[in-house]
Amino acid sequence: MNCSECRDLYRIYQSRNAQYIEARSAAFFQVSAQIAMRTWGKLQRALTDLREHQAECPWAITAEYISQNRRPPSA
Ligand SMILES: [Zn+2]
Repeated sequence: MNCSECRDLYRIYQSRNAQYIEARSAAFFQVSAQIAMRTWGKLQRALTDLREHQAECPWAITAEYISQNRRPPSA
């Protein structure tokens, strides 16, 4: 990833994901289930932000083609 925004958004997504996994593991308690739901919402927003950016980011589009072992349409 050569784009700093991709990296930042991905880092946020990863940290939200870790928080969600942690919250879910404590969801045994009812109060924690509510926290888990809130954490899930934050994770989904982080994922939406990342996807929205990457839909327009040339670096992300190129990286996706490379990872799929295909050439970008313009190449
Ligand atoms: Zn980007």
